[in-house]
Amino acid sequence: MRSILHVDMNNFYASVECLYHPEIRNFPVAVAGDPLNRHGIILAKNMIAKKLGVTTGEAIWEAKLKAPGLVLVPPDYKKYIRFSRMAREIYYEYSDQVEAFGLDENWIDLTGSLSCMHSDPVAIADTIRRRVKEELGVTVSVGVSFNKIFAKLGSDLKKPDATTVIPFEHFKEIVWPLPVGDLLYVGRSTARQLELIAINTIGDLARTDVAILRRRLGKWGEILWFFANGMDTSPVRKISESEQIKSIGNGTTCPRDLQTEQDVRLVFTVLAESVAARLRDCCVKCRGVQIFLRDNSLFTLSRQKQMEIPCCTSAPILETAMELFRQHYRWPKPLRSVSLSAIYLVTASRHVQLSLFDDTAERLLVQEQLEKTIDKLRDRFGHDAITRASALLDPKLTGFNPKEDHTIHPYSYFR
Ligand SMILES: [Mg+2]
Repeated sequence: MRSILHVDMNNFYASVECLYHPEIRNFPVAVAGDPLNRHGIILAKNMIAKKLGVTTGEAIWEAKLKAPGLVLVPPDYKKYIRFSRMAREIYYEYSDQVEAFGLDENWIDLTGSLSCMHSDPVAIADTIRRRVKEELGVTVSVGVSFNKIFAKLGSDLKKPDATTVIPFEHFKEIVWPLPVGDLLYVGRSTARQLELIAINTIGDLARTDVAILRRRLGKWGEILWFFANGMDTSPVRKISESEQIKSIGNGTTCPRDLQTEQDVRLVFTVLAESVAARLRDCCVKCRGVQIFLRDNSLFTLSRQKQMEIPCCTSAPILETAMELFRQHYRWPKPLRSVSLSAIYLVTASRHVQLSLFDDTAERLLVQEQLEKTIDKLRDRFGHDAITRASALLDPKLTGFNPKEDHTIHPYSYFR
């Protein structure tokens, strides 16, 4: 029988912001994209905002209706990544098998290390909970169980600052009465499909004939049935938080439809700059670019391309995007919105092999230094402190700061 913990930092982004700004701690606080941008959404909220009904993913204006005094803070991923690393350093003292799930969640497999620690998993869970609170100043919830799915479920059951144990002997009493949507990977649409065949709780799911589930939901039906019956055998993989960030992308709906390649280039330039800055923020590089186009009849097109040298600078990202664009778009219609994503991310600290015969990699390093300097200028003096001359060609098209508005997507459980 395995011993697995799932540690979840409570209201992570908002908790970190409240640590840095104690003066806002007693107000409802939300971390959100640019409040002046109508696309801004709530990325995280503190307990006070939560009690007022503010939810992650809703629009800023909706949240403000529920919590009139809501304090909005822009996201600062550098801070969150730093806290995420500090927390993981604590976890590594108890096992080398630590798997990140997003920036604020980790599974820890204690099975191999328990014998040499003369302790039990619940005591270790409580120790980790106390240490993160004392050393980092944020609270965590811990689930303790014999597989990853139930450990994750446990950490969701009691929040904040709590340990929940789901032992093999009692899992049916604890887990089966819960709504089926509480199970990891049962999203809203799956839950609705299950309700149609009278499956409302995890217990209902566990007791259903697996053949029926397979017919209804395909392979997924079978996987969920295994989960509900406590038969999740997936290992805790050694995945770091930077490998968790799958892609970094920015998009925009343009103030006017794009008519020419020059228009597209202007908007892609702003997007490429912001994507590159975010790659640098997260200390990662990309080995591919993906573009997404939507024309004014709402027809959409998405294309991607790999790159030879991993990069975190705007020029190669922009050129790859333009190459994709010229190859695949023949202007049947003007474009309403475009987006640009950096994909196939790798950790930036990986060494670059410089070639004797080709100075591309070397030129990239120089470009990287230049763009890091621009990051610092913008950090200190604001986004508009420095801008490309080309952005002045059409300030209406280019006058947005996409860096404020984004999400980090956790890696899939199955890859
Ligand atoms: Mg959390």
